[in-house]
Amino acid sequence: MAVINRIAEFHDDIKGWRRDLHAHPETAFEEVRTSDFVADKLEEWGIEVHRGLATTGVVGVLHGNKKSGRAIGLRADMDALHLTELNEFDHRSKNEGKMHGCGHDGHTAMLLGAARYLAETKNFDGTVNFIFQPAEENEGGGRVMVEEGLFEKFPVEAVYGLHNMPGIPTGQVGMRVGPAMAAFDIFELTIKGVGAHAAMPHLGVDAILVTSQIVTALQSIASRRIDPLESVVVSVTQIHAGDTWNVIPQEAVIRGTVRSFDADVQAQTEADIERIAKGICESQGASMTMRYEKRYPAVVNTSMETDIAAEVAAQVVGEPNVEVGMPPLMGSEDFAYMLQEKPGCYIWLGNGADGEPGGCSVHNPLYDFNDEISVIGASYWAKLVETTMPRAG
Ligand SMILES: [Zn+2]
Ligand SMILES: [Zn+2]
Repeated sequence: MAVINRIAEFHDDIKGWRRDLHAHPETAFEEVRTSDFVADKLEEWGIEVHRGLATTGVVGVLHGNKKSGRAIGLRADMDALHLTELNEFDHRSKNEGKMHGCGHDGHTAMLLGAARYLAETKNFDGTVNFIFQPAEENEGGGRVMVEEGLFEKFPVEAVYGLHNMPGIPTGQVGMRVGPAMAAFDIFELTIKGVGAHAAMPHLGVDAILVTSQIVTALQSIASRRIDPLESVVVSVTQIHAGDTWNVIPQEAVIRGTVRSFDADVQAQTEADIERIAKGICESQGASMTMRYEKRYPAVVNTSMETDIAAEVAAQVVGEPNVEVGMPPLMGSEDFAYMLQEKPGCYIWLGNGADGEPGGCSVHNPLYDFNDEISVIGASYWAKLVETTMPRAG
């Protein structure tokens, strides 16, 4: 293990920031205290601070000792979840119903650690933009930052992200070239039948029966429509219809989500949902409308930047501890929007193996970011800057 010694020296500070952030979780676009915390630290270390992108976003700009025109972006997310924490340690959430259950407190603290070290040493040739984004969970703060001109205001040649990963042992890092996390879409089907007395169903069109047939038939998309070597998930997660025992309801609503990696698969799935649902409605004398929204695109790592990330991770944790062929995850990440604009790589940093501290899965009320990995994460960030923009001579 070759973490940066200077960063290891202030490990207790990083841990302190992380636990402070953990105790004060804030959710989408309301990360006011958190962004003040980040901005104050960056300013204290002489880093140029820009605020206001995506409401609570913070960008720190730091030039190296030499100023080639080169620049890279390092991104951390700052938001917490709507989740009631069940942990009982001292740094548990003080904000009822909110919790840093995904480790974004750790992501923010590690990027701050790298910023502090790089501001002290400036041993690189170019510019590093520290991107602290709000609202990664659900609301797409990364997309909003991009739409509000993140890369026009702070141009970079590449952008990098990381996420802690329970299940991967501490001291190990994983990544993959190409699609790493799935695109996330939602759909809503409103089925219109004809209401009737439950004892006289022949006088109506039963929206519940039509709905049941649609839910079953949608499962034929993954099993019979999409190439078995491709991946898609179609999950119905809500059905709403009816209020009492003796009325056949006129209307029913089906809601669900689609996860995919490939744009063609995604487009075919959307078309198939509509075709299947419409066909069943027509066959039963019902009608329907569909709302389909593409939320987060797939996270797609570019090959050169993934090679760089792997090389740098190997400098920190040793080559045997870097897995470059990780299978993709069906989860989603709004870092995808940044990767749609710039080449880059998103890696997974081991938070602890199953059954070890840090092994509890993210979004669980007992989860906690593992402070033992923060020096590794901060060293990775710092070495990424020094390696991609080396100071010659
Ligand atoms: Zn999360
Ligand atoms: Zn997360």
